[in-house]
This record gives sequence, C-alpha cells and structure tokens, in this order.
Amino acid sequence: MARRVLVTGGGSGIGRAVARAFAEAGEAVTICGRNVEALAETDGGRGMTCLACDVTDEAQVNALFDAPYDVVVANAGGGKAGKLGDTTLEMWNDTLAVTLTGVFLTLRAALPGMGKGGRLIAIGSTASLQGGANIAAYAAAKHGVLGLVRSVAQEVAKKGITCNAVCPGFVATAMADRAAEGLMARRGIAREEAMALLYADNPVGRLITPEEVAASVLFLASEGAAMVNGHALSVSGGEI
Ligand code: NDP
Repeated sequence: MARRVLVTGGGSGIGRAVARAFAEAGEAVTICGRNVEALAETDGGRGMTCLACDVTDEAQVNALFDAPYDVVVANAGGGKAGKLGDTTLEMWNDTLAVTLTGVFLTLRAALPGMGKGGRLIAIGSTASLQGGANIAAYAAAKHGVLGLVRSVAQEVAKKGITCNAVCPGFVATAMADRAAEGLMARRGIAREEAMALLYADNPVGRLITPEEVAASVLFLASEGAAMVNGHALSVSGGEI
C-alpha cells in the first residue's frame, strides 16, 4: 500500500525533486509551501495533494496533519547571507524561524499518530556540520536542526520510527543562484566564477543535483534504513 508522504517546501528545488521521487515510487505525496502555483508545477499531473502552508506558523503546520503521515520530510528552509556584523536581529529571527523553528513545528506535529516504520527526515546542510563565513545565522539554524534530529531520534526509536538528517553541500537550486548572486555583488565577479566558488570545497568539483539529494532521502525513508537513526547523511561529494 502507498505510504502517505509529506514534503514541506515542495514547490521548488530539493523539495520538488524529493516529492517527485516519492511519487515516482508510488507513494501518496502531499506537498506544502507558501506559493501554491509552484506546488501545482511540482505536481504537474502526478496526483499530489498541494497545501498552502507557512511552516513558521504553528496553526498552519498543525493543520497539515489532519491524518498521520508515514514519512515526513522537513525540507523548507533558507536565509539571507551576511557577515555577523551586518546580520540584523530581523534577519537572524527570520532565518531561525523558517530553518529551525519550522522543522521543530513540523516534526512535533508529525509524531502523534505516526506508527511503526515511520520516517522523519530533515534537510540539514553541510552548514549543520561546519561553520562558514557570511552564514552565521543559517549555520546556527542548521546546527540546531541536527541537535533536534539527534534528540528526536532517541525519543522515537522504541516506537520503530527513525529521525535523520540529509546534509547536502551546494545544490543546483534557486538557493545556489541566490548565493552566487551575493558573491557576484560582493566580489564583483562573473556568474561562472561565482558558481565555481560555491563548489570549490566539493572534491567532486560540481554542484549537487536535487535528484542526488532526493535519492538519499528515499534511502532513509526505506524499510532497509530501519537501524539508521539520528544520523547526518552528507551528500557533499566528500566535502565533510
Ligand atoms: P529553494 O529556495 O528552491 O526552496 C526552498 C523551499 O522552501 C521553497 O519551496 C519555499 O517555498 C520553501 N519555504 C521557504 N520558506 C517557507 C515557509 N516559511 N513556509 C513554507 N515553505 C517555505 O531552495 P532549496 O531547494 O535549495 O532548499 C531546500 C532545503 O535544502 C532548505 O532547507 C535549504 O536550507 C536546504 N539546503 C539547500 C542547499 C543548496 O545548496 N541549495 C544546500 C544544503 C541545504 P515557498 O517560497 O513557496 O514557501
């Protein structure tokens, strides 16, 4: 029987690839995000359920869970880059709200009713595992995601549920485009050079594709991954 799968931030990038991979595998997929047109584009006739939701809003997140899901992928996240001195309290709060609090609200709402074989998966980042210049708020939030995942993993283990994080390096999505634009503006360099800087620390020497991230999410969601719990799975070409 098809499992019920929820992917937050399913309207673009990694969330879109994850949602489509689950749909391709025959699962019953629900996607959510703020831009419902983008969600419809992800669906593209695949039969997904598309729900408007801002993951920073507790009531809206709780409303997603009218019935329990078997697999929940807390993917929505993001933030503005900037040196610590240029990071306003508003930028800090906005980054933590979507990248960390959104994951907390999603995982917390997912637990009631989730049964044996349930899978909680958060999209972390290599920034969950190491710091980086100009991303203090984002890295703090992504480190927080890992602490959350590792703690939840211990709480749910006895119920036959796992909780893990997938931690990608730079992935070819709108987020990478925005990071490249920031580099172009700060350093006065061309787009190609900025893109190459994004994957300079990736030993494979290219951006990761959203589909490569989705493959790791599907592995963690599989029955065979039942003993993988509280893990941070790097999808970074060996960067970390
Ligand atoms: P995108 O910007 O393409 O996707 C971000 C998604 O999150 C969008 O679909 C957006 O939808 C959704 N989102 C943002 N804010 C909210 C909100 N408040 N409520 C609901 N949904 C929201 O970037 P990616 O696909 O790259 O990012 C997906 C995840 O992967 C993020 O957690 C990101 O931190 C992580 N990641 C990305 C990497 C990269 O290099 N691209 C590397 C490592 C991790 P909408 O605006 O419609 O709400």
